[in-house]
Amino acid sequence: MAEPVIGIDLGTTYSAVGIVEAGFPILLADEGGERLTPSVVWFGPEGVKVGRPALRESPAGRLVRSAKRQIGVRFGEHIEAGLPLVRDSAGGIAFETSEGPRTPVEVSRVLLSELKRIAEYRLEREVRKAVITVPAYFNNAQREATKQAGEEAGLEVLRLVAEPTAAALAYGMNKLGESARVAVFDLGGGTFDVSILELREGVFEVLATGGDTRLGGDDIDALILELVRQGSGLVGAALEDLEIDSDRLAREAERVKRELSIENHAVFRLPFYDGVQSLEVEVTRDDLERVMGPLLSRMERICREVLVDAAMEPEEVEAAVMVGGSSRVPVVQKLAGTVFEREPDCSQHPDEAVALGASIQAGIIAGTWREVLLLDVTPLSLGIETLGGLMNVLIPRNTTIPCKVGEMFTNARDGQDSMRVRVLQGERELARDNWELGKFDLSFRSAPRGKARVGVQLSLDENGILEVLARDVEGTGDDIIVRIESAAVDVNEEAVEQMVEESVEHAFEDMNARIFAEAQLKAEELLPAVRAALAEIGSVLSKEELEEIRLAEVAVEEGLTAGEANLLKGAVERLDQATEALAARLVEKAIAEG
Ligand code: ADP
Ligand code: MG
Repeated sequence: MAEPVIGIDLGTTYSAVGIVEAGFPILLADEGGERLTPSVVWFGPEGVKVGRPALRESPAGRLVRSAKRQIGVRFGEHIEAGLPLVRDSAGGIAFETSEGPRTPVEVSRVLLSELKRIAEYRLEREVRKAVITVPAYFNNAQREATKQAGEEAGLEVLRLVAEPTAAALAYGMNKLGESARVAVFDLGGGTFDVSILELREGVFEVLATGGDTRLGGDDIDALILELVRQGSGLVGAALEDLEIDSDRLAREAERVKRELSIENHAVFRLPFYDGVQSLEVEVTRDDLERVMGPLLSRMERICREVLVDAAMEPEEVEAAVMVGGSSRVPVVQKLAGTVFEREPDCSQHPDEAVALGASIQAGIIAGTWREVLLLDVTPLSLGIETLGGLMNVLIPRNTTIPCKVGEMFTNARDGQDSMRVRVLQGERELARDNWELGKFDLSFRSAPRGKARVGVQLSLDENGILEVLARDVEGTGDDIIVRIESAAVDVNEEAVEQMVEESVEHAFEDMNARIFAEAQLKAEELLPAVRAALAEIGSVLSKEELEEIRLAEVAVEEGLTAGEANLLKGAVERLDQATEALAARLVEKAIAEG
């Protein structure tokens, strides 16, 4: 029998593991028959506990939740967590537990070891290979860190698969052969993701993806607590003043939320919270739906943006596939129905679809599942800084991966013999507004301005890991190959969203900045050339021609000092036109002399 390859959904709230057996994907349950493992780790003096046993321990300072939110994120860019966070020696983040600092990679390693153990227990054999899912928005650092956690857990990570792709794979399982474009709507514990994928005879292609890494079931729990606070007559922060363990409040709020997914009302109960008094507050589904208004609007806006990115009308989406535990909330389903103008498709198990999809992908690799091609996309554009400090996009956002793109660059100055290659990620027009993934210098034979030829190629593998190749095409022929390592990445997932938002927000500004930078380059090239030509053969021009050139020159200088994009662009064009005759004479002279 072939070596087993397992599929893992390493979720923020819950994780699961599965495999393809006898041609079907199945999830593997632990000793207690549970297929979902809470993604929590408890660090105690006598050892470590994972999942449900960890939740049963008294948590103070020892229970790490939602480690996925901090993985691959640098200190200073993290978001708040249940435990205090400290900076680790490598500039990353660590959870300050009573047993000392624990990094998100360590915590994930413990979770993955547990999932590996569950699989080995069920399969009764050693497991060494896995496919792990990651959010579509994970950047290089977050992917690398996830992979590292897997490897530290003793798993060879054969592939990282985007969660929506996995969900679509689970959905498309019995629909292969058909052609469909589906939206995957994933509302989990703390994150929201929407993607539009195309399924074509077993080929999956992600058309667009978007989301919010701070929008999920936890926010609904918080709203329930707010309703309870109001309904209990306890104003302001009085609920906190009761000094009830916040974990107990959160657990009860979550229970009420789940009940409201089925019932029209539920009662929030805290019996004898202080030994004497009890709290009982009724919460109705109507109340919840009313206070969820702002959350729903955010979801709606994101869905509409993804539709725009995919250049699709809602009616072109053939199914809105609902996944993630919070997609069970009726008003959330209703919202998806409204945006995509159809009944939402709730055929998939909301908590299990991603793990099943990961298992199918694992089966494809192991050869236990028939051949299906998997395609993914880049969440943000990748490119190189070019002359004038502009971003030159080589791989646009939402490009299907794996992919490879190359372009030729040249030197900006005479006699220049090396070039700094800066690899950028982002959606902004100016290099400085994007993120630098890495930089290195490539040397070449000294050449006049514009004469050196440097080829730069970006290739993204199926795991979303980037390799940059730079080559001096004419000269030494030396290649520099740089693999973008996590340490070089200075970004986090929340910032990804911000990047996309900012690119929209600053769209006009950016366009002006680009126009100015381009016109400035042109001006810097034109002005010295014009002056040199005038000195050489200026005498052959008419007085009017000379006057027009002088005026155009002044206009360019003014445009440069004013920093006005359109002013400068117009002036440069004017100068270009005014010197046409001059340029023609120069050519004539050269021919005559030659
Ligand atoms: P993640 O992908 O973030 O690990 P999941 O997809 O497992 O998360 O979803 C977990 C979230 O789903 C939690 O916030 C949980 O409270 C919520 N959830 C689970 N079941 C229900 C339900 N029946 N009604 C409402 N919310 C639910
Ligand atoms: Mg999930």
